[in-house]
Amino acid sequence: LALAVAVAAVGGVAACGNTASSSGATQTKTPKVGVILPDSKSSARWETADRRYLEAAFKAAGVQADIQNAQNDKSAFQTIADQMITNGATVLMIVNLDSGTGKAVLDRAKSQGVATIDYDRLTLGGSAEYYVSFDNTKVGKLQGEGLVKCLTAKGAQKPVVAELNGSPTDNNATLFKNGYDSVLKPKYDSGEYVKGPDQSVPEWDNAQAATIFEQMLTQQPNIAGVLAANDGLGNAAITVLKKQHLNGKVPVTGQDATVQGLQNILAEDQCMTVYKAVKKEADAAAELAAGLAKGQKKSVDARVTDPTTKKDVPAVLLDPVSITKDNVKDVVTDGYVTAAELCAGE
Ligand code: BGC
Repeated sequence: LALAVAVAAVGGVAACGNTASSSGATQTKTPKVGVILPDSKSSARWETADRRYLEAAFKAAGVQADIQNAQNDKSAFQTIADQMITNGATVLMIVNLDSGTGKAVLDRAKSQGVATIDYDRLTLGGSAEYYVSFDNTKVGKLQGEGLVKCLTAKGAQKPVVAELNGSPTDNNATLFKNGYDSVLKPKYDSGEYVKGPDQSVPEWDNAQAATIFEQMLTQQPNIAGVLAANDGLGNAAITVLKKQHLNGKVPVTGQDATVQGLQNILAEDQCMTVYKAVKKEADAAAELAAGLAKGQKKSVDARVTDPTTKKDVPAVLLDPVSITKDNVKDVVTDGYVTAAELCAGE
């Protein structure tokens, strides 16, 4: 049944079956741009989407790129950055693990004459030439609005809403929360909704998220909606809800349009996710990086103010899209996931 639903939902784009996985690009000896991804567990996006789109974008731009993953290890992050600089990178692009260690990496690069870009996460107090990301407050707003829609559809009366926030060291998690709280707080204040437990998940760790949500549900068994900041945290909540046979009854949000998140949506265990077209993010970042590598600073439309330094950082901020069961197929059409991946059993 799940398979049939998945095929129907993606418009019968393809029959379920195996897909050949694309192989990683081979590294060249003298990379000019170094990219450091944060980890491969806090979200599937980094290895399944960002890496492949960045590889393609740099290839198209004719720029040599060395893309590495720090696997959530801050000292490895620093070591990778140093090696990239030693190996001749003239541009360094990072997704920081926290602002403190990110700033150290950016400052060191700058002192060596290496240009820098904050990719997806702004390094507070940092020194990057550009910040390339999505409108992350809007991401949160879409999550809040999505949850409200699902609760309304269920006819929930004075629902208790739990919030599972992202890592407290990720500036994006703050922006997501600002966004969803702008939707939920007025409802708490008016008494339409009841504010339930509200906790951050260190390092977006999915296992910890399950433990945290289990405790939330034990303390407040009448939780009626879960604002989970990404698909991994959402899945953790769904796993716990399943044990109480509450999955599908309690709407849960997400973000990243991961295969798991989309499968949870098709199974009606997850209410929505937010699709961020990572291809656009990778293309924009690669274009800026290619410019910097050639000594050009391209102009960009947006600015974000670093709340710690009050300095404006030139930015590219892309538009996120809300995904529910009705438009899962758009994510497939965009090439972000394949129908076959969505059909693959758990
Ligand atoms: C990204 C999200 C991701 C999260 C965990 C955030 O900074 O914007 O897309 O889910 O980190 O990796």
